[in-house]
Amino acid sequence: MQIAETITALRTQIKVWRQQNQTIAFVPTMGNLHQGHLSLVAKAQELADKVVVSVFVNPLQFNDATDLAAYPRTLEQDIQQLVSVDCDLLFTPTSEMMYPNGMEAQTTVSVPGMDDKLCGRDRPGHFDGVVTIVNKLFNMVQADIAIFGEKDYQQLLLIKIMVQDLNLPIEIVGSPTYRESSGLAMSSRNQYLTDPQREQAAELYQTLLTVKAQLEQGDQSFDAIQQQAIEHLNNSGFATDYVDIRRADNLEQAKAGEKSLRILLAAKLGQARLIDNIACNLA
Ligand code: AMP
Repeated sequence: MQIAETITALRTQIKVWRQQNQTIAFVPTMGNLHQGHLSLVAKAQELADKVVVSVFVNPLQFNDATDLAAYPRTLEQDIQQLVSVDCDLLFTPTSEMMYPNGMEAQTTVSVPGMDDKLCGRDRPGHFDGVVTIVNKLFNMVQADIAIFGEKDYQQLLLIKIMVQDLNLPIEIVGSPTYRESSGLAMSSRNQYLTDPQREQAAELYQTLLTVKAQLEQGDQSFDAIQQQAIEHLNNSGFATDYVDIRRADNLEQAKAGEKSLRILLAAKLGQARLIDNIACNLA
């Protein structure tokens, strides 16, 4: 596996692959890789000749300096994991390369209507930071396809909209959430949990399944179902930010009769803010 530490080194290799007519798939990450990330790499390998992974903890998308400082950085292990799955190139830029004039001077991208709800409401500025860095990375890597996890469903939709709105020549592919055997969605933030909390955190997925079962039984009282789920999580030791039943295509509030839904939640447990979501397609 090649490691490109600079934008120039990355571009040099991309140019060679382009001259050889190789297709390129890209998987952006913040590192601290786990099986969820590696499942995206596997999908990328199915879809293109060459796979590029980036590891960059993007300061622009953190609205809390303590959260940014605490974010786990494990580059050596990340490299070993990527070598073991035959990744072709790892791009590891620094903040100075990404924001040479500082973050305040950075031109930003914003997706209206999508970034002020759910996680956007709880983390102001977060999604502008995400779509801005993804846009920059897309321009550097020049991939044909990029793979994103459904685990971050709102992020996946925002990126699809950004690509469409800005006519970016790249295809966005979503990949299913990879879970531990308990059902807990794998996440770098699970490291903040103690062992008992990690067991407790499996309740998030169970809650999503309960909400889904209620909807499948024909219950259309969305507000009451959401409220019940929030109370259940709060009584189980979580500080719940939201449990929401939304339209799957645009994350607008779901209305009775709508068929293609997404159930999303965010909750704090100990030091970790965890998110999860599942699809719910009603017949
Ligand atoms: P992150 O490093 O957390 O920014 O995530 C990088 C990419 O991996 C994003 O597209 C995430 O949605 C995806 N991802 C993170 N956790 C999982 C998971 N458990 N299953 C599938 N994809 C994931």
